[in-house]
Amino acid sequence: MKLPKIPKNENDRLEDLKSYSILDTLSEKDYDDLTAIASEICNTSISLVSLIDDKRQWFKSHHGLSAEETPKAYAFCAHAINNPNEILIVPDSRKDERFHDNPLVTGDPRVIFYAGVPLISKNGYPLGTLCVIDDKPKVLTKNQLKSLTALANQVMRLMELRKQTKLLDDALSRLKEKNEDLEKFAFIASHDLNEPLRTVDSFVEIIKEEYHNPKDTNLNTYFSFIHNALTRMRTMIDSLLDYSRLGKSKTYALINIQKLITDIKIDLTECITVSSAVIQQTELPNIICHPSEIRQVFHNLIINGMKFQKPNAIPEISISYENTPTHWQFCIADNGIGISPNKQKEIFEMFTRLHPTSKYDGLGIGLAFCKKIIEIHNGNIWVESLPDKKGSKFYFTISKHLTI
Ligand code: ADP
Repeated sequence: MKLPKIPKNENDRLEDLKSYSILDTLSEKDYDDLTAIASEICNTSISLVSLIDDKRQWFKSHHGLSAEETPKAYAFCAHAINNPNEILIVPDSRKDERFHDNPLVTGDPRVIFYAGVPLISKNGYPLGTLCVIDDKPKVLTKNQLKSLTALANQVMRLMELRKQTKLLDDALSRLKEKNEDLEKFAFIASHDLNEPLRTVDSFVEIIKEEYHNPKDTNLNTYFSFIHNALTRMRTMIDSLLDYSRLGKSKTYALINIQKLITDIKIDLTECITVSSAVIQQTELPNIICHPSEIRQVFHNLIINGMKFQKPNAIPEISISYENTPTHWQFCIADNGIGISPNKQKEIFEMFTRLHPTSKYDGLGIGLAFCKKIIEIHNGNIWVESLPDKKGSKFYFTISKHLTI
């Protein structure tokens, strides 16, 4: 018996094999189907997806064989990977000096016939083989060898796909962890910021009372600035807290959006009357969503449609929807001042505003809330608009796969 040669760059090859995270994993039907087909096509009792580890060959799939691994020294596949561009064919191992006294030949499973196609990774390393084995001598036809090679390519594609999926899953869970950390940070920071803010507020009140002088208009103006700044800061901190809490309770319910809009219009009666706004809607559906959060989204978008108008313009807002195979897609269109294309992404970021408060009041949080709420509903939010043309159309989608 001859021991298999150690392949060139063996350490790199083993590293590459490890990067697939496949060794010692459970069996999978997708691989088992391929070995079953290989056996069927080549008319052999055994077919394996064999991966050559440091000291053993380990089988990801073992059709017709109960063993899950064997020592590398006995592995035919460990010979096969030394000529990665060729199929290793052993028609009768008893007549082959490399294998005639190999325990796998002289004893069970009696590997008399062997054909193994090397599995080459994307980085060019031979990781193992797809092989077929029988306990009697055999010759494979050209077509059988062609099919075996095609199946080996499928095995390798499957391994690459699993590797990519795992990388993606790992990246996703890292991202999730980072997001949770950030949310915790936002919660703690905003929670703790409230304390010094309260101290400043109460001392300002004391100073105001002690040094109050109705004649000193400057002093009164300064106090009013401080008061406004503190109120604004408190609202921002509270909003950050609310933002970090969004999505914490996943209590979905079936909501009649038609009724929800009617309720919002009642809430906004004063604003609608003052601006003479016209709010129209098509017949809107019943959907599963988080009631108060989705209400907040419609509320923010309708308010913005009324707010971001040229002076004295009469706001016109229309609400419609589309029923796509996977999502409910809503549109809130206005006839307002519009948004330049290069600003249409950043308006969804926290505290982003495109105008000074002197022109349009606000804190720049409404759309950030909308974005987070919609993402929690496995949807997307975006705007289509041209400044000074026909206003803006805000679209958002809500997954149809949410459950109560
Ligand atoms: P706020 O309304 O408090 O400013 P938002 O987060 O709701 O905060 O909006 C962010 C910015 O996006 C607004 O300041 C405004 O510049 C722009 N914007 C939002 N909605 C509209 C709209 N319907 N038309 C034009 N600009 C808008």
